[in-house]
Amino acid sequence: MQAQRKRFIGGNWKSNNTLAKSLELVDSVVNKLEFDNLDVVVSPVSLHIVPIQQAIKNNVQVALQNIGHKGFGAFTGELSFEHVKDLKINWVILGHSERRRTPEISESEEFIANKAVLAINNGLSVIFCIGETIQEMEAKETQAVLEKQLKPLVDQVKDWSKVVIAYEPVWAIGTGKTATPEYAEEIHANIRKLLPDQSIRILYGGSVTKDNAAVLIGQPNIDGFLVGGASLKEDFIHIVNACK
Ligand code: PEP
Repeated sequence: MQAQRKRFIGGNWKSNNTLAKSLELVDSVVNKLEFDNLDVVVSPVSLHIVPIQQAIKNNVQVALQNIGHKGFGAFTGELSFEHVKDLKINWVILGHSERRRTPEISESEEFIANKAVLAINNGLSVIFCIGETIQEMEAKETQAVLEKQLKPLVDQVKDWSKVVIAYEPVWAIGTGKTATPEYAEEIHANIRKLLPDQSIRILYGGSVTKDNAAVLIGQPNIDGFLVGGASLKEDFIHIVNACK
């Protein structure tokens, strides 16, 4: 029997918007969301997270887009898990392809997994992103790439209730080229085989829109979405509604 998994919709606002614009987005989109039995999490830039959290009037939660690799200490420019917990923030996105694959950032698999484990072991929940490039897909390396990205996490995590996996093919992020529901379902089913627990949620990310959300969420192994561009507009309301 298939495990019941609570659906999850994340909105990744990336490095966009002034504070005023993000507060407007809270008014016009986030505070209009009505749901129960779903997790909805939005992720503003870290500098905005407190005023955004204070402006949210419903059960939408907030997530950081990254976290430092150590606790408090002499790590200039880093945010530690203690800072995050202090402000009652529960979620952090880690391993987004824009942090893995941007040459000037180039976070390694081990570095990302170690940050995830540190966060989880200290009570935070992690949206852990994985995904293949177009070249890797064309070379039929998708499964090997995903396994390599997941392995350091699978080897170390003990409490999987604090992990959501986001499968985001790099070729689909911000390109308008959404994975077909069949392709996404096949990959999600393969990812699930790599995970120790059937109850772990696996999100799809990559050009999710109000028009393709319903068919994607209809796939048995797709438990929700990580949404970039469409989370910055009213379309996010339709995407959340499609998952109810
Ligand atoms: C993302 O940045 O995680 C993402 C999926 O972006 P988009 O929805 O714009 O493709």
